Order: sequence, then structure tokens, then C-alpha cells
Amino acid sequence: SFTLDRHVTLVTQTAPIAPETHGGRAKCLQRLVRLNLPVPRTVALSFDTVKAISLGRIPDTGQLLSVFDPDALLCVRPSSQDPDWGGPTTILNIGMNDAACARLSAELGPEAAEALYRRWVQSYAVHVARLDPDAFEEIDAEAPDALARALRAYEDEAEEPFPQDPATQLAEVLRSMARAWESVSARLLREAKGAPVDAGLGLVVQEMALGFGPGESGSGVLQLVDPDTGLKQVTGRYLSQSQGRDALRAGARALYLEADPRGPSLEERAPEAFAQLKEHAALMRQRLRAEMQVEFTIENGTLFILDGVVVPASDAAAIRIAVRLAEDEIITPREAVMRVQPRALSSLLHPQVDPRADRDVIGTGIAASPGAATGRIAFTAADAQAMAAREEPCILIRRETAPEDVRGMHAAVAILTEKGGMSSHAAVIGRGMGRPCVVGARNLRINLKRRQITADDGRIFREGEIVTVDGTNGEVLAGAPAMLGAMLDDAFRTLLGWADEDRDLRIRVNADTPEDAEKARLFDAGGIGLCRTEHMFFEPGRLTVMQEMIFAATPEDRRAALAQLLPIQRADFKELFAIMSGKPVCIRLFDPPLHEFLPSDRAGLRDLAEALNLPVSDVTRRVESMGEYNPMLGLRGVRLGITVPEIYDMQARAIFEATLEASRKDEPVVPEIMIPLVSARREVELVRKRVDAVAAAVRTERGRDFTYRLGVMVETPRACLLAGDIAPHVDFLSFGTNDLTQMTYGLSRDDAGRFMSDYVQQQVFDEDPFHRLDTAGVGELLRIGIERARAAKPEIIVSICGEHGGNPESISFCRSLGMNYASCSPFRVPVARLAAAQAAI
Ligand code: PEP
Ligand code: MG
Repeated sequence: SFTLDRHVTLVTQTAPIAPETHGGRAKCLQRLVRLNLPVPRTVALSFDTVKAISLGRIPDTGQLLSVFDPDALLCVRPSSQDPDWGGPTTILNIGMNDAACARLSAELGPEAAEALYRRWVQSYAVHVARLDPDAFEEIDAEAPDALARALRAYEDEAEEPFPQDPATQLAEVLRSMARAWESVSARLLREAKGAPVDAGLGLVVQEMALGFGPGESGSGVLQLVDPDTGLKQVTGRYLSQSQGRDALRAGARALYLEADPRGPSLEERAPEAFAQLKEHAALMRQRLRAEMQVEFTIENGTLFILDGVVVPASDAAAIRIAVRLAEDEIITPREAVMRVQPRALSSLLHPQVDPRADRDVIGTGIAASPGAATGRIAFTAADAQAMAAREEPCILIRRETAPEDVRGMHAAVAILTEKGGMSSHAAVIGRGMGRPCVVGARNLRINLKRRQITADDGRIFREGEIVTVDGTNGEVLAGAPAMLGAMLDDAFRTLLGWADEDRDLRIRVNADTPEDAEKARLFDAGGIGLCRTEHMFFEPGRLTVMQEMIFAATPEDRRAALAQLLPIQRADFKELFAIMSGKPVCIRLFDPPLHEFLPSDRAGLRDLAEALNLPVSDVTRRVESMGEYNPMLGLRGVRLGITVPEIYDMQARAIFEATLEASRKDEPVVPEIMIPLVSARREVELVRKRVDAVAAAVRTERGRDFTYRLGVMVETPRACLLAGDIAPHVDFLSFGTNDLTQMTYGLSRDDAGRFMSDYVQQQVFDEDPFHRLDTAGVGELLRIGIERARAAKPEIIVSICGEHGGNPESISFCRSLGMNYASCSPFRVPVARLAAAQAAI
């Protein structure tokens, strides 16, 4: 055995205790002692001591016991560095034996004493001696011979009598807890939560306040907030004649804390102890600088504080708690900003179906996760991922979900299942992700083979058709009803306001439509960083004109079609400029291959032939001739701008005319024009020349002047490498990391979903590189591009507008590269603002 004198630290105000040597719980208990709270006598064992015990050294527990009242029962609790890393189960009532039982019988009555003894035998048997739990669970706790039976069961299973010596009991408890920490499963569990391989465990040994006996005795937890809403309110549980976590498991037997007309309360039973408890909780909040959950015991009316942990709060509550702590001047606004996970914001941003909209209900189920979303039907996780990669919002419909569906659920805007309830996999995961989710929609029949669902009234909805899931009231609607943005409360706005004070990376929004731009304004985006203009052509009336343009046989025909598109585009841009009122708007010239606008099935080809007054065979041949083996690497982006320059001419003219029409004397619009998929300087020169010519023509025609800025999207590896060559010809560079990731990996963004989960599971990638920027590879290209561009033109503005612009880790990386702004989809703007602020603090 080894003596513990150097290893035993009595938790006093001045003892040398740190989370890194004794764990977070020991440190917290020391803080409570410093606050003069009634904490029972406590000893902390360091990580080193516990490690030695786990390696087989037997501690001299007689020495440890001498610190405590010889009649006291003890408990041992785990104290890992970070409470999130878990630890072995707390063991209570150490020291209980025949003699203690006799003594306590006199004090508490035989019933309470025997109940304690029986519990101790059972927990020692299961957690320390690791005997079969069934042998003890069979025993009726209420039976008069329950204790005798438990002792006998122990003797039968362990083949030795129950140990009576407190020193032996304590040594065995310490040994089993130390060993449990080293088990493979415990190790894996904590490593999954970010613990280092060599994370240590401390233990705290505490004298017990019993919670049983005469007068008001019991135990519970209390906090001064509602952990679900974050609003100020005393919440928690208390149970008379109980200990440990009994109150949390007590269900309806638990008492109310504050006086309550619905039933008995702790406040009525023990008003003084309750008043003290609230005072102590307030002091803990003030001095530990967090909303704390207080674990307490009352022994014959006397209050003891056993422990305190930070209140486990929901996302919404976490924001309100942080903001109120700062408003109460307990923490600084900056600390409040650091305490909220950026992702937590996104779950508060649920859009809802506009209550004024018509609702075409096709199915109902359980409202499992709030908010509503519209998308195309997908029946498998892989399909959902593929659709998301094409940026088509989709609804994942499954009979029920399983872990292998999680990536598909991530990819979907909402989830719908036929089976399940409030706590089924889909419901739990959907809520966690903040995805609207309806489960148990039994009146919708799903036919996976035919890839369709049938509503009660017989209507059929096929894969790819548009439906809306309303997770707030559990309904499924046909089509896309009008939606309302999320309700952002004051705490949300306050926090983001504080975040903005420290933020040095500007955040813009990717917005293609006036609706997107409205949302951007709601979320205080600093401008539009990417307007994908092709999205403006997909609307019904416009598509035909677009197709006429694509099919034009002569330059005159093409000009005529473009002349029809011009006013449409001009009106779009004018509206965007108006909504953004003076904030920068960056418009990307046409990007996708033209044949994306052409039909692929027979019916579509026939419609087009009719519209163009051509034979179907002609149309079919033409469409086929435009097909490409690899359209994402084909005639798209600036390549189209070079080969069919009239399209960019028209767009430039629409932008400039809208600029003049939206400009006011005191507030001129300065549009930004961006060229996609550049890989050579000459491409920029050619486009710039034509755009300049259009600008000159518009200035002359309208007799008014304006300025504009021209930039390129850096989304090919070559553009990164040659950024120094390109930079002198432009005002800004914006990294399109979606295409850049695709081209750097040689990995199609539309097909990656098929095997991404295998790759992540087998740790080829630690995360989907389309989700979180690959700093090692793609990031290196960004670094090179920025360095070379700035060397050639120091004042050049650099940004990111790929999907990664809304990912917290990627934002922090982009900031570290010295980018000027990040642009992301509207609902990620608040997340990005917070993430950028945290990166700056
Ligand atoms: C990109 O490639 O990162 C980008 C923003 O453009 P798109 O997603 O439209 O190709
Ligand atoms: Mg792109």
C-alpha cells in the first residue's frame, strides 16, 4: 500500500487545487467552500493518485478516513478536467456496515437505516464488486427482510461475506472507479467528446449529508432559470427522504420547489432552508459567473450544498442566459459572445408557414421539431445528399430513420417519417439539427419502390415534387406556401450586436432574389456577396425566352431574344439595389452550361418544339449536340462569356441601366460585377473590354456617369496559382470554394454524396470537404492565391462566397488568411457574424 498523505488534499479555501490536477468538480467545490457555503467536508485526490491506484497500488485508506468524522458515511464522485468527459458513477454510503446500521437505527429509525444499508450493498455489489445486477434487482425493497436478502445475495454471488471494514470498502471503491476510467469504452466515449488520450481522472471523497431521517430531510437540485427557455424562474426537483439522484427519477412524487397551489413544496416544508438555498444559488451565479444547477441535501431542516454544475441549457436558453449574465454585469458582453455556439443560433432561425397562406394539407403526424421548410421529395439519404449538392432544397421522406440516414437528414431541409414518435431517431436528430420534422405521418402511404407517396384523398406525390413540412403543427402541405422568417428575440439581437463590436471580417449574403435580399436585411448582412443571376432565368415566362436565345440560328435572332431578357434582368437588379439601399451588391455573370436550360425528356422536347415552331427531331438533335460528357468542366462560366459574348453584354447593360435608375444623388449605386470560373488572365481582359464598352455606351445614351467594380471568382486551381497575374486587372477576388473544392479533389460536387459517408467513416476525410473547408489542400490554394494577388495589388479586396462562408471553422480560417469578407446563405448570416466575432476575440 502507499500512503496518501502527499496525495490527499482537503478541500479548503487555500488548498492547491486546479482543474488540470484535480479536475473540474474538485475546483468547483473549492469555489463553493471559498464562498462559505455549507459544503460537507471534502477531500480531493489528484489525477496522479488515481492513476497510481488504477495501476494496482493500494492506497492507505485508513489515513484518508482519519480526515473525516468516524461516524460519517462517505461518497466518492468523479472529477474529470472537463465535466463533459464523464466519469464513473458516483458511489454513496461508503462506511455503512452492521455497526453503522445499528447506530443509525437509533437516530433515523430502523426503516431508514436498513434502507440505506440495503442500497449500499446493492450499489457496492453492482458497481464495485461487479456482481450480476439481476440478483439484487429481484429483491422487493419494501419487504421487511430486504436487507437480509441483499446481504445473502451478496454472499452467494461473491462467495464471501459483505465487507464490514470501512477502510476496505473505500479502497475497493477507489480502485474500481480508477479502473473504470481506464476501460476502453470510457476512453472511446470521452475521446469522442474531445478529451485527449491521456485525460486524467480526479476523485472527490465527501462526507455525506443523509437526506433521510426526522424533520424535513431530502435531496434535490435547483436552478434559477428554466433550462428550456432561459427565462428567470426557479426550477428543479426535490424529494423528501431521498439522496443522490432520487429526486430526478421521482416523477410525480417530487415536490415543487416554490410554494405552488398544485401540491406540497419545499418552500412550505422548510422555508428557512429554501430561502438560504435561493440565496446560495444567487451567490453561486454571481461568483461562479454562470447559471448553476445546485445539488443540495436537507438533513433535519439543515441545508447542505453538495455540488454545482453549469445548467445544461437548450440553444435558445443558452443565448438568453449569456445575455442576461452580461446585462447583470456578471460577465462582459465579450464573454457572452464567446459562450454561445454559433450553430446554436441557427436552430432559432426557423421560418414558419405564413398564417395567412392557404394550406393544402395532405398528411398529418407528430410535430417533432419546429419550423417549416419546402423542398423536393427525396426517398433516400443518398438522393437527399445529391439534391443538396445541387443546391436543391429537399425533404427527406423515410419510413423511419437510422444512423446511416443522418447525413441525408443534414442535407435535407426537413424530415418526414411514417413511423416514430417524439423521441424516435428522426425526431431527436431533427430537433438537434434544427430541421423541421414531422414523424408518425401514418395517413401518408409511402411506396418506396414506386418512389411516391399517396395522400388520404388519393393524390399522389412523386420523387422530386415539391411539398412543405410544417414541424410546428405536424402537417405536410402540397406545394410551397408563403413563409415568414424566424422570430428573432431581443436576446438574439443583443448578442449579435455585441458580436459585431469585435468582428473584423465583414459578412455578406448570397442572395439571388428579392426575397433572399429581404432576409439578408433582417439578419443585418453587410451586402450581397454573390447573386447567381442564372437563377433569375428559371421562372416560367423567362425560360422560354432563354431557350429561344439558346436556339437562335443567327446573331440577329439571338439579339432579339436577349432584348427581351434585358428589361427583365434590369428590373431584377433594380429591386435588389433598392432593397439593399446603398449596401454593396455583387452580381455574378451567367455561369452554368446553356443546355441546363433545355428539356431532357420527350414531353419537354415536344413543348419546346411547339414554342419554337420547329420539328421535334430538329430540337432533339440540337439538344443532343449541346450535351457534354462533363458539363461542370465544360462550356460554362467565363468560357460561355467568351464564346457567346452577347449574354454578358446584355447582363452588363441591365446592371448599368438599373444602377442609374436606382441611384439617388446622395446615394449612388456602385455595382460589383463578378466573372465566374476564370482560369486565365486573357479571359478577364476580353470580358473587361466588352463590359467597359457597354458602360461607356450606357453613359453616353443616358448622359449620366457611374462607377462600377469588376472582379473574378477564383474557383479553379489555376486561377489561385495565377492570382498574381490576374489581380492587376480587377478590383476584387472572390473564392468560389464549391467549385474549387470540386476541382482540387477532382471530386464532383454532385456525386460526392454517394460515398462521402464511407470516406468520413473510414477517416479518409475527417469531415465532408464541401461542408467544412479543407484547410490543408484547398486552404493552401487560398493562401497562395491571396499572397500572390496582394503582392501584385495590395489594395485588392478578397472574399469567399462558396458554401464554406457560413461554416464557423472555415470562417475562422478565412479570417486568418486576411480576407475582407465572407458571404453565405441568408440563414447562416447570424451564425457567420457570431463565428467571425469569436475568431476575432
Ligand atoms: C462556388 O463555386 O463556390 C460558387 C460560389 O459558385 P457556384 O456554387 O454557383 O458554382
Ligand atoms: Mg462556382
